Amino acid sequence: MTNNLNQELFEEQLTALRKEYADQLPDKIREIEAIWDKLVQGEWDDEAFEIMHRMTHGLAGSGASFGFPTLSDAARTLERLATTIIEDGVPPTAEQRKQIRTLLDALKPASLRPDESVPKVTRTEHRPSKHSPLHEKDSRLVFLVEDDSHLAQDLALQIGHFGYEVRTYQQTTGLKESVNQTPPAAIIMDIMFPEGFLAGTDVISDIQHGRENPIPVIFISARGDLTARLQAVHASGEAYFTKPVDIGRLIDRLDILTARQNSEPYRILIVEDEVMLATHYGLILQQAGMVTTVITDPMHVMQPLVDFRPDLILMDIYMPNYDDGKELAKAIRQQDAYVSIPIVFLSNETSIESQLEAMHFGVDDFLAKPIEAEHLVSSIEHRVERARILRSFMDRDSLTGLLNHTKIKEQLDIEASRAKRENSTLSYAMIDIDYFKSVNDTYGHSIGDRILKNLSRLLRQRLRKTDSIGRYGGEEFAILLPDTDGATAVKIIDEIRAAFAQIRHQFDDAEFYVTFSCGVASLPPYEDANQLSEEADKALYEAKSAGRNRVVLAD
Ligand code: GH3
Ligand code: MG
Ligand code: MG
Ligand code: MG
Repeated sequence: MTNNLNQELFEEQLTALRKEYADQLPDKIREIEAIWDKLVQGEWDDEAFEIMHRMTHGLAGSGASFGFPTLSDAARTLERLATTIIEDGVPPTAEQRKQIRTLLDALKPASLRPDESVPKVTRTEHRPSKHSPLHEKDSRLVFLVEDDSHLAQDLALQIGHFGYEVRTYQQTTGLKESVNQTPPAAIIMDIMFPEGFLAGTDVISDIQHGRENPIPVIFISARGDLTARLQAVHASGEAYFTKPVDIGRLIDRLDILTARQNSEPYRILIVEDEVMLATHYGLILQQAGMVTTVITDPMHVMQPLVDFRPDLILMDIYMPNYDDGKELAKAIRQQDAYVSIPIVFLSNETSIESQLEAMHFGVDDFLAKPIEAEHLVSSIEHRVERARILRSFMDRDSLTGLLNHTKIKEQLDIEASRAKRENSTLSYAMIDIDYFKSVNDTYGHSIGDRILKNLSRLLRQRLRKTDSIGRYGGEEFAILLPDTDGATAVKIIDEIRAAFAQIRHQFDDAEFYVTFSCGVASLPPYEDANQLSEEADKALYEAKSAGRNRVVLAD
């Protein structure tokens, strides 16, 4: 099983890291002792004592993570004593010197052998974690079982527009075998077949029987009677549509059932000056399905904020007076785009006053060191989950779930300066639905709303995760395609344009089609966000006056 392999590899890496840590301990402790010996023999030196303080702080924070809790405890006592001495601002008394000597002597035996031999790490695949990449696999495959070949073909085409891979079957015979061979993300199932009036529900009952996780099934039928509906419920049908099937609603249901949204892994930026600890946290979080980036110099935190777009910042840095951390958190918070990003401190600091002070300047939370792997993972999961929900309220348009006007403009600024800096390309596309006012006037506002949702869904499904999609205004959408030149962007958007134009919309018995026009501008040749925005707008205007339902590139 791949999971076991992963787990093995993970434990192997952790064990190797522990060994590396244990191997360098004697040297580190000797170094601390050497500093102390020099201090007591020669003249008192505040700076040297600061270094010693910093090193014991490091030991206190790291020891327990690598299996040396006793060492951590001894180092922490020593660190506290040193803090007192530094705060008093006078060299230690004879009594304090004696205490330091005793504590130093306690470090060595505690560093010889780890107290805990087996890494205390629980596998996290068990938890129903939404961000695990394992959950996303193959969720685009949909089986459509329908004996009316015209209807089947048409439905398959419509559903295919929304990014699903559709396999059609015209009969119920052999279906179970196919499902067992390649379980689809969902089955769309007709009920009446030549095989029987309820052949559809029968075969589904048979398929679901004995399955650990039932496959989501949507029934479609000309029959609206209670018997058929009850049979569908019995067969664990998740939804029931009467024909003619409303594609918009069917896709809504499919999307929910296959739950492809929100599965992006959590992104954690680790700020940690000790490389081994950083690696340790990174391994644990990665094992839980998260993506991590480490920086060891806190002053370099700005760039990864832009490039890595973390969901959360985990900080563990040496901060005797919290001044470094204070400034860092402030600097991050000063930028509008990062006002809401959770900052969590891993800290030795337990005093309530210091914690409150830190919260005042923008730190959201403290996790006390040492922290168990399981606890680290669950604390972070919780915070990211909450932060994502909160952020989606702030950043997203409620009808479509796309980025709102403010956010997409902000994103345009970020991406444009990045492309410029990295000498890469960026394309910006403005989409406007054609004659949308008359759609509203003819079919009503709620049908109009559904079309807006359809288009946003189509965009989400057709574009890459790295692209940003926003609802710019009423029936206008803005799209950012990083690392994409103008010609490529036009090609991509034009495919979406063609797909959208083929989506059939329904209103009572009426069927109609809607199109959009689009203007694209790219960097290069354009230089910045403003130019991109202006030029894309002009190109869109051109597309409109040239007859609509087309994509125009600004040049
Ligand atoms: P053109 O092809 O030139 O773009 O024509 P148009 O009718 O799409 O352009 P216009 O800007 O005149 O009309 C936009 C319409 O979009 C006005 C309004 O009825 C509709 N609209 C804007 N926001 C929404 C919304 O949130 N829901 C719905 N249903 N309609 C909206
Ligand atoms: Mg039939
Ligand atoms: Mg408009
Ligand atoms: Mg319009």
